[in-house]
Order: sequence, then C-alpha cells, then structure tokens
Amino acid sequence: MSAPFPDLSQPGPIAVTCQCQKVKITIASLPDSANQCQCSLCFKYGVAWGYFNPDKVTIQEEPVTLHDPSGQEENDKHFINYTWKNKDAAFGHCASCGTTLYWKHTKDGAARWAQRGKQPTMAVNMKLLGPETLKTIKQEYGYE
Ligand SMILES: [Zn+2]
Ligand SMILES: [Zn+2]
Repeated sequence: MSAPFPDLSQPGPIAVTCQCQKVKITIASLPDSANQCQCSLCFKYGVAWGYFNPDKVTIQEEPVTLHDPSGQEENDKHFINYTWKNKDAAFGHCASCGTTLYWKHTKDGAARWAQRGKQPTMAVNMKLLGPETLKTIKQEYGYE
C-alpha cells in the first residue's frame, strides 16, 4: 500500500492514483497551473484540472469488481465515462471508488478542438496530487 498522495521529493515522472489505487496516472511533470473549472459539472466534481498532451499521460488500471446491493458482480469495468452538453469530453471516474480522474476529448470533440487550432489536450485532476502539492501550483478559475 503506497501513500495516498505522491512523494515529489524525487525528480522524475509523477504518479497519482484514485482513492482505491486501482487506477494510476503518470504525468511527466507538474503543470504551470491548475484550473478549478467553474462550469457546473466540474464545480460539483470539485476538481482542479491540469492540461497535458495526451501522448504525455499514461493511465494504468487494474480490473475492478463492482458489487451492487443485489449481490451481482461485474468484473470488466475500469472507468465510468460521462459526457454532457455537446459531448466534447468524456469525464473518467474510477469504476471502483468513483474518484474523478480526467477528461479526454471524444472523437467529435477532438475534431472540433483541432478546428479551433488547438493542440491535442486532455486534463488530469490535480487534486490527486494532494493538498500540499496543489498549494504550490498557481490556481485558475476559468471554464475549460
Ligand atoms: Zn479507484
Ligand atoms: Zn468544467
């Protein structure tokens, strides 16, 4: 069992996890800022997004077993992916503990993003870094 938040005293890639540690996300370095997106969905999630090139983010997941109150089990789910509004982005949550992990563009969302001249982007929830590290990153309060 590792610590709930990453130890950043060593240089190198940074691995963050969901609460149950079935999902591990690795980023090369801290972002310059974290955006506590003020849209209604992100505000409810309570996230602080760091934005990254999707090629620079690695996501590893262990199979999870879901238990519903009727006693049924499902063994093949890693993520709950939620989309809303124009369905540009899918919001990923650990299927086991529910931690909000990332958003990734859907296929259509990525196409629209590129049409606006933007580089491929995904977001990782910087709250997974823990309060001590998050405090060291500039906080923004935009919409994205
Ligand atoms: Zn989890
Ligand atoms: Zn948002």
